[in-house]
Amino acid sequence: MELIFEKSVSGKGLFLMPDTDAPEVKISGKFMRSVPPKLPELSETEINRHYSSLAKRAHGVNDGFYPLGSCTMKYNPTVNEKIAAYDELTDIHPLQPSETVQGWLKLYDMTRDYLCSITGMDDVCFQPAAGAHGEFTGLLLIKSYHESRGDHGRNKIIVPDSSHGTNPASGSMCGYGVISVPSNEKGGIDLEALRAAVGEDTAGLMLTNPNTLGIFDENILEITKIIHEAGGLCYYDGANLNAIMGIARPGDMGFDVMHMNLHKTFSTPHGGGGPGSGPVACKQLLAPFIPGRRVVKKDDGGYDMTAPEDVKASVGMFCGNALVIVRALAYLMSLGKEGIPYAAKNAVLNANYMKAGLEDIYDVPYGGICMHEFVISAEKIKKETGVAALDIAKALIDNDIHPPTIYFPLIVNEAMMYEPTETESKETIDNAIKVLREIYREAYEDPEKLHEAPHNAQIKRPDEVLAARQPVCRYEFREKE
Ligand SMILES: *Cc1c(COP(=O)(O)O)cnc(C)c1O
Repeated sequence: MELIFEKSVSGKGLFLMPDTDAPEVKISGKFMRSVPPKLPELSETEINRHYSSLAKRAHGVNDGFYPLGSCTMKYNPTVNEKIAAYDELTDIHPLQPSETVQGWLKLYDMTRDYLCSITGMDDVCFQPAAGAHGEFTGLLLIKSYHESRGDHGRNKIIVPDSSHGTNPASGSMCGYGVISVPSNEKGGIDLEALRAAVGEDTAGLMLTNPNTLGIFDENILEITKIIHEAGGLCYYDGANLNAIMGIARPGDMGFDVMHMNLHKTFSTPHGGGGPGSGPVACKQLLAPFIPGRRVVKKDDGGYDMTAPEDVKASVGMFCGNALVIVRALAYLMSLGKEGIPYAAKNAVLNANYMKAGLEDIYDVPYGGICMHEFVISAEKIKKETGVAALDIAKALIDNDIHPPTIYFPLIVNEAMMYEPTETESKETIDNAIKVLREIYREAYEDPEKLHEAPHNAQIKRPDEVLAARQPVCRYEFREKE
């Protein structure tokens, strides 16, 4: 497909701007550009067609099943979008006087209350723009806490070997050494190894529960106790909150601080880099260290937005990606107290239903009841037919199904992680099971065909390492021949 710059024809530009009646202002030469901007020149029809055809090449939640494990690609209700587009919410400036944005501030206060009651925490920082950013912020709270007590020797963060890659990365970005603790045969954390890993250098633990295997760690209270007794604090990676929202609370499991991925659990279209929102919720003991601007309730019932004394004590702009927070609030209010746990239960039910439809042919290395996602392994199929998890993922694209997360978690060979979410129907999941069973049969009958999949997609097998390491994000202008 041609880029919009390649379609451009010089002189075709649409100049529909009326003549201005405002006086012309002379701009001094040094501020003038020496060459005109290279804007594509196309007709309005062509521009519309260009973007429509681009949109048709993408696969989104509104196009088909999207069981990308750990990412919670659920349906994002359109009502959230409608509310987030209200002029009253968008046509304002964050530096407006507080008394002119009382509604916005109340909205933050309400969201904070909801999030605290869902997580069992006491306070929320809205600045982080995504989950990984929330992890970094949360670890800074832990760091500030230890430093405020003169406890300077704590320089290690403990993570299980099933952890999401962002956990050890956030630990190192905060200057911590990272200790990885092995999982036990059930997929939970190995308690003996954890006991051996803690000590006077333990700053804290980072854990998601249910973990990336989709397994709820039955020893969670013991785990957080071991960390607390060693003098560390417990960080909860809230990316898997969809499995437990309204049912179990990280605060009650013994966690001190956590992030939520509002774009995942509380439904904002995501993928492709944002915008997201990763608010950090914490217990009272960490609340004094929350960075950035805060919404506070005044004695007269009104609200104020306060700035920190030190502007460096911020991890983002103002109170974060505000319109993602609006979507989350709209979602929370439309589902309500009954709807939220009902959604979580259906997410778990759908994952177990899908797993049950596959486990006689695909290996489930950590079996039993799963939570909102499950991991199967293509190791046996690969050994017997040469067809790998990557081939199966590519074959799903030909069936209008987005591939699962593959080769993660790292502790499962040829891993495929499926998360159907609560918003999929039984028919959709039945179809996905049927497709995966057909792919399995094909692996034994015609493995070559699977090695060449996808057959119907625009892009087939890009060099993923090259695409990640040397992305081409910019169009290089060349003179047209
Ligand atoms: C998605 C995810 C993250 C990172 O969140 P982002 O919002 O993508 O930065 C961290 N941990 C887990 C388990 C996740 O699934």
